[in-house]
This record gives sequence, structure tokens and C-alpha cells, in this order.
Amino acid sequence: MRTTAAVAVPWGRLVPGGRREAARIVDAACVRLWLAEVAASLEAERDFLTQLDAAIGDADHGVNMHRGFTAVMARIGAVEEATPGQLMKLAGRTFVSTVGGAAGPLYGTAFLQAGEALGDHERFGPRLLADALRASLEGVQRVGAASVGDKTMVDALSPALGAFQLELRMGGSLETAASGAREAAAEGMRATIPLQARKGRASYLGPRSVGHQDPGATSTALMFAALEQAVLADRSQRFAAGARRRVSGP
Ligand code: ADP
Ligand code: MG
Repeated sequence: MRTTAAVAVPWGRLVPGGRREAARIVDAACVRLWLAEVAASLEAERDFLTQLDAAIGDADHGVNMHRGFTAVMARIGAVEEATPGQLMKLAGRTFVSTVGGAAGPLYGTAFLQAGEALGDHERFGPRLLADALRASLEGVQRVGAASVGDKTMVDALSPALGAFQLELRMGGSLETAASGAREAAAEGMRATIPLQARKGRASYLGPRSVGHQDPGATSTALMFAALEQAVLADRSQRFAAGARRRVSGP
């Protein structure tokens, strides 16, 4: 018989150094890493996103997103020095100018608003990232007027923001918040399947939109999965750099 209950202790949260590190951790390199992860994932899922859009739209979401992110990567690749906010604004402007339809202006606005919220900060922590995500959601809702349950990207973005904020309120780190957001976005994405679309092209189908996963909620969920990947990859790169310094340093 077990006499002691196994309790998961969040040790990382009790270490002051860990907390200091978590306080300011995202920089331009991490934002570039995230954009590259998104681009790779959109490339891999392009046909899947297009298939989803074929069922309840006009079969172009994967193509739209892929074209937009290919242009984003080319533009940011040509810029050497840029703050995280400048990178996000450049991504937003590029998206608006290269992607038509609903997703172009909606994602373009999301990136532009995130860039505005990040201001001139060279490095920032999870709290400012939460502000940027909130600004993105507000921008998407200002432009598209969709609420949760309308079967759009808002169904993934809104719960992802909620989970990110909740995790921070509970004392979590950038990593745990990004992980919570990824999970909530995927759940929100799956929850669009039984819904009837009330916004966008899919709403023209009325009840026939029921039973299909929303393409925009799916691309949003991919972006949050990419965020978690980028945050974890960035952290392991930092650890590796620190270990190298410790090995070769005085
Ligand atoms: P289009 O519908 O113009 O062909 P896309 O296929 O690229 O554009 O994008 C479709 C996605 O855009 C939908 O799956 C949905 O998630 C999202 N969307 C459409 N209208 C809105 C809106 N008003 N608010 C938020 N998202 C929307
Ligand atoms: Mg479409």
C-alpha cells in the first residue's frame, strides 16, 4: 500500500533564478524562430488546410496561408536589425498585401496589433506576450466581428489567450503558458466541428457547415503549436550556449 501521495511540485516556479529568467525571455531571435516554425508548419499542412476549406469554403486557405508566410519569411529574412514589434508589424503588412480573402486582413491585423502592443521592447516576458495576444484577438474581432462559437479562428485564438493568461496568473512560466495556449487552441479548433458557421464564407452553407473543422481555427492552432515549439527550442539553445560558456569559460 502506498502511504505517500505523489504530488507534482512545480519546482521551476519556486526557483527565484528561474523566475527572473522567465521574466524577460522573448527577443527578436525567438520571434524569428516562431515565424519560421509557423512557415514550416503551414507548408506541411497546406493541403490539409485547403481540404478543410474545400468542405465549407472555396478551397484556398492552405494556399493563402502558405503564400502569405512565404512572403513574410522573404521580407523578414531581408531585414537584419529589427525589434520583435517591428518584425510582427512587417509580417502583418506583408500578409495584408499578399493574402486576399478573409484570412489576409484578419491575420494581418492580428500581427499588426501584436506588433503595436510589443512597442520598442528588444526583449520581453510572458506578460507582454499576453498583452500582444489580447491585442491580436481584439483586432481580429474588430475587423471580423466574430464571437466564440461562430466557427472561425476566434474559436482557437480566444481560448488560447484565456489559457495563456490563466497559466500566468497561477504563477506559470512562458513555457507552461505557451503549452496551455497550444492545448486550448487545439481544443477550440476541434470544438468547431459540431458548430454551424455564423461568419465568413462557411456561413453561406448554413446547417451544411456542421460536421467540419474550421480551416482558420486550424491554422490558428498550428500557430500556437509553433509558439510552444519556438519557446522550447529557444530555451534549449540558451541552455546549450550557457553550457558552452561554462565549459570553455574561466
Ligand atoms: P476566404 O474565406 O475568403 O476564402 P480563407 O479561406 O483564407 O478566406 O479563410 C477562411 C477562414 O477565415 C475561416 O475558416 C475562418 O476561420 C476565418 N474567418 C472568416 N470570416 C471570419 C470572421 N468574420 N472573423 C474571424 N475569422 C473569420
Ligand atoms: Mg477560403
